[in-house]
Formats: sequence, structure tokens, C-alpha cells
Amino acid sequence: QRDFRKGTTLAQVEVVGLSKSFGTVNIIEDLNLKIADGEFVVLVGPSGCGKTTLLRMIAGLEASSKGEIRIGDRDVTRLSPKNRDIAMVFQSYALYPHMTAAENMGFSLKLAGVPSAQISEQVQRAAKLLHIEHLLARKPKDLSGGQRQRVAMGRAMVRQPAVYLFDEPLSNLDAQLRTTMRAEIKRMHLEEKQTVVYVTHDQIEAMTLADRIVAMRDGKIEQIGSPDDLYNRPASIFVARFIGSPAMNVLPATIRDGKIVVENGPSFDLPQAFQRLGARDGRHILLGIRPEAFHLNPPSENAPAFEMTVSLIEPCGAEVYVIGEVAGRDVTIRLSPGTQPARGETRRIYADPLALHLFDKDSELTLR
Ligand code: ATP
Repeated sequence: QRDFRKGTTLAQVEVVGLSKSFGTVNIIEDLNLKIADGEFVVLVGPSGCGKTTLLRMIAGLEASSKGEIRIGDRDVTRLSPKNRDIAMVFQSYALYPHMTAAENMGFSLKLAGVPSAQISEQVQRAAKLLHIEHLLARKPKDLSGGQRQRVAMGRAMVRQPAVYLFDEPLSNLDAQLRTTMRAEIKRMHLEEKQTVVYVTHDQIEAMTLADRIVAMRDGKIEQIGSPDDLYNRPASIFVARFIGSPAMNVLPATIRDGKIVVENGPSFDLPQAFQRLGARDGRHILLGIRPEAFHLNPPSENAPAFEMTVSLIEPCGAEVYVIGEVAGRDVTIRLSPGTQPARGETRRIYADPLALHLFDKDSELTLR
């Protein structure tokens, strides 16, 4: 047994040419992914893109149709879940109701015949990390949702697996608990440096927890990178629209005479960084502008100006989202509370020319 990742076992995960089909439908297609020892990787993507299927294949709960899965230095493709040295934490944490928190946490070690003194030691250690030492004697019915989720995580931790697999572990918790648990998971990972593969729908979880985010689309990887990469340097319009909330605004445009000509909107000089693109006159592009890249005052001398007719205001406490029509499209901008125009008002807004994203209309890939 290792002492919570202080041992020597390397826990990298490697997925090579992995495919999965249900009947004739390909769910995962020739997927390759390398996760380093101690890395926290988050899988995101629209519903049905295959995140859970991939996680379950790594866990061994789902057989692959083709390809190889390696954990540490072992090929585990044909091993059963219990022989893969992984622990999975689900959205529904399914604790045994008749056992105390401590018994739930130690159960797998008991089954494995670990001496009770050692079980107790490991349960205590996990409980300390999860701040649930005072709850160990309670049964699940006497615990809150967040406390139960901690016990479920503790149950995974006492096994000291090489790899943790999380499938939307926080999605049953209320907003405040989610935030607390998210921070605790992050803190724990910083302290213990476990290898984690984590599936979530939650943008903030993905951005805050991940060393690298894997954006999936139709069973394939669309982009892998740091949260900063995916947010600021998305490889495609798909990633650009998927990462970030509210989503990036997109306006169709054409490149002409060294200018960006927005459909039903203004024309302005291609920013410095994109001037190379001026060589291809008439190219159809999509212009991406994040909500925070719009301003009421010009952020620089040459900032492109747009007219916005406000249709909706969404106050969110520390910021306010203003939704309205720009160049015939719905656009959302993010402002400081108190500065927003009124509903129905038409105002001039300015885009930060350094924060523009350009995509090829046909390939939908980023233009640089
Ligand atoms: P969500 O975000 O909604 O949980 P996901 O990205 O996790 O989605 P999966 O649960 O991996 O997606 O499902 C991927 C696709 O595989 C879906 O289209 C789903 O309907 C299909 N699928 C999953 N399990 C089976 C099965 N046992 N038989 C047939 N199709 C399946």
C-alpha cells in the first residue's frame, strides 16, 4: 500500500487508439490521450459527446471496441475495474445506509483483508483531509448532501488508487456547497498530487480545477490545453463557444481591402496581429468577441465601434450582462453594475481590437 501518493508508483494514464461503438454507432473514435502522473485533467463537451463513456472505459466499467488503455506502466485494457488501481466517484454517491461514515470509507480495505488498525489509520487520514473527522460515527441519513459527498470521496481515497476518476461528483449539491467542495478538491489535489480524470458540465469547475482541459466533440478530442489556452486561444469556434459563460459572441464577416467588414455592421482595419490575413480578399470569416471584450468607452484609439440596441438586462451581483442586437445578431456584453444602458436604448459599444477572435467560416478553425 502506498501512503497517499507519497510512494513511488507512477500513475500516468495513456489511451491509445481507443474506440467504442454501441451497435453500429461510433461513440468514441480513435481517441489518443496522455495524462501525466499527478495531473488533473477535466473532460468537457456537450451532452452525448462521450465523456462518461471514456471515463467508464478507463475505469473498466465499459469494454472498448478497439485500442489500449495503460495505467502506470501496465496495459489494463483487459483487466477488471478492481485490478486497475483506480477509484471512481460518481454523481450519486450511493453510500451503504446501514454503515457509519467510517465503515463506508473502510469497507473496501476490509474486503481486501487489511488489518483493522491499518484501516482505521487510513480512514482517519482521509477524514482529516476532507474535514469530516467529527462525522465518522454518523450514518448517511444523518449527513448533509455535501457531507455524504465527502464520505464518498473518502471512500475512494482510503484505497489510495493510482488514479481517481470523477463523474460530475458535485452536480447534486447546491451552489454554495459546490463552491466549497470545488475548493476542497483543488486544495486536496495541490497537497496530494493525485492523478485525476474529472468529467463535468460546469465551466467554473473545469476552469478552476484543471491542469489541462480536454474538449470533446462527437467522440473525438477537439482541443487539449490549459484552461488559459482554451479560453484565450481556442482552436475552433466550437471550443470558443463552448468554453466561457456567457458564450463568445459571433458575427459573420468578410475580409476585404485589409478590413474586416461585419455583415450588417461596421468595417474596420484588420488588427495588427491579423494583417497577414488581408492577403486573401473576400474570405468569409466569423468574428468572435467575448462579452467582456465589449466596452462602453473605446479601450484604444482604433477600437471598432458597434451600435447596440438593448433588449434585456441580467444583473448578476458583481457584474451585469446586457443582451441586445448588434449587426442584426443577439450579442451579450458584460459590464460593471450601474454603468449599463437601459432596456430599449441604443448605445455605441466598442470591441477591444486585441481581444478579437477570427475563425474561417468553412473550416470553423481559428485564424492566426
Ligand atoms: P452527458 O454530458 O449527457 O452525460 P456524455 O458526454 O457523458 O453525455 P455519454 O454518456 O458518454 O455522453 O454518451 C455518449 C453517447 O453514447 C450518447 O449518444 C449515448 O446515448 C450513447 N450511449 C451511452 N451508453 C450507451 C449504451 N449502453 N447503449 C447505446 N448507446 C449508449
